[in-house]
Amino acid sequence: MIETLKGCLGSTTAHDSCYIRYISYLVSEQKEGKLGSAITPQIMSDINPFESAQKQIKTAAKKLNDLENSLLEQILQPMRVLEVNIPVRMHDGTTKVFKGFRSQHNDAKGPMKGGIRFHPSVTRDEVMALSVWMTMKCATVNIPLGGGKGGVICNPKEMSEGEIERLSRGYIRGIYKYIGPTQDVPAPDVYTTPQIMAWMNDEYEVLVGEKSPGMITGKPLELGGAKGRSTATAQGGFYCIEKLAEKMGWDKYDTTIAIQGFGNAGSVMAMLLHDAGYRVVAITDSKGGVYNKAGIDPSKALDVKSQKAHLACYEEGQVCDITKLKQGKDFRTINNDEVLELDVDILVPAALENVITKKNAKKIKAKAIIELANGPTTPDADKELVKQKVVVVPDILANAGGVTVSYFEQVQNSYNYYWEEDETLAKLKKIMDEAFETVWEMKDKEKVDMRTAAYMVAIKRVTDAMRFRGRAKRFVE
Ligand code: NAD
Repeated sequence: MIETLKGCLGSTTAHDSCYIRYISYLVSEQKEGKLGSAITPQIMSDINPFESAQKQIKTAAKKLNDLENSLLEQILQPMRVLEVNIPVRMHDGTTKVFKGFRSQHNDAKGPMKGGIRFHPSVTRDEVMALSVWMTMKCATVNIPLGGGKGGVICNPKEMSEGEIERLSRGYIRGIYKYIGPTQDVPAPDVYTTPQIMAWMNDEYEVLVGEKSPGMITGKPLELGGAKGRSTATAQGGFYCIEKLAEKMGWDKYDTTIAIQGFGNAGSVMAMLLHDAGYRVVAITDSKGGVYNKAGIDPSKALDVKSQKAHLACYEEGQVCDITKLKQGKDFRTINNDEVLELDVDILVPAALENVITKKNAKKIKAKAIIELANGPTTPDADKELVKQKVVVVPDILANAGGVTVSYFEQVQNSYNYYWEEDETLAKLKKIMDEAFETVWEMKDKEKVDMRTAAYMVAIKRVTDAMRFRGRAKRFVE
């Protein structure tokens, strides 16, 4: 299943059954307004993501004894935050002005890289936090890129296709002088699609008067997108699980997994794990889901979800009547709090920010957490998990497969020659395995948790590059 899914997800023209099933699933999510919901709860909570990002940097920086204060000051803030007001002609003839941001956190290691989010809850602080995480993520996997992030406050679900196209082009007109393949390279994020990337690419090329496919990634394959990009985030997280199982001496056939979130990242991860022999025992989406001690076949669950739009209708691969579902210790429906607290070996949060907090951290029974979502664990919860000896493979490592294959896309664009998917996967595996080993070694050497270790690795790489550029000296009093 995963092979077919991987093959078809990257194409906008594929017609095989898995593509159609996946698209119908996405459409059902879209109808329910679930796609992109990943961002909402964080905004509604009082946890400021930018403050969390700064805390994470400060915690790791304390351990790096030789870090100059002037460098720390610089990485605690983005280098530049652009704010643009974008007038868009609406279909009723009126003109509406949308606010957009582009946060460019750090460019010491290379052009900045990071997605563009179209969502009503976008804020300046959120965009800034995400740009910090992008710098740290690219440095953790040691790709020659810095960190950036963009966002526009809008609700694309209430906009026509023409309005979204005009907004996308207007956003690029507002920021084009500050982006480009050698400056800052955007990509899709919540509610932005390959089609939107194509419009943005086209607008940019009109403005600069030349072809420049590497100015943006996540494009359709027809415009220079990379094969394997759509499944890369889960694939990278999967390589982390394989490495972790090796370190812990776990037998994959005895390793149980619970996954929160069954979207692009979570569903592909479930399939990769299942196909490799791990036992996925719980999956949920925004409406809750199902626990089955004997294991769940994720491709059948995807079928169930596309037929019934409800994961809890899964019963041994059948679509069941949820009202008649027999509930028991070994097979039952679960909600999104329960999935986090199951007695499993590995928990994979793959949906929302801030789901593991001070409130529920004590109830986590998993031995390890693989953060496919961005920012699922708050800094307070982290402290508790360290006490409980839960191994957390942090987002800046666990979900870095996505940006790594975006980097590959840019490389292919720059020499206008394209790789097959197996070549991409081999290169991705090498990068992810090396990054995991480096972070693991740092954890052992410094006796810290994996998040602090990953930040230490990343901060060191970024600040070494800054030092070579003379950015420490420039700020010495
Ligand atoms: P998606 O929109 O495809 O899927 C999100 C999933 O979360 C959906 O199944 C939705 O039903 C579920 N969900 C929504 N609200 C929920 C709730 N309250 N409880 C449980 N599940 C809920 O998004 P995605 O692309 O899979 O991204 C998921 C996470 O992974 C996000 O944090 C995103 O930032 C992160 N991430 C994704 C990528 C990528 O390439 N897709 C890369 C890096 C990080």
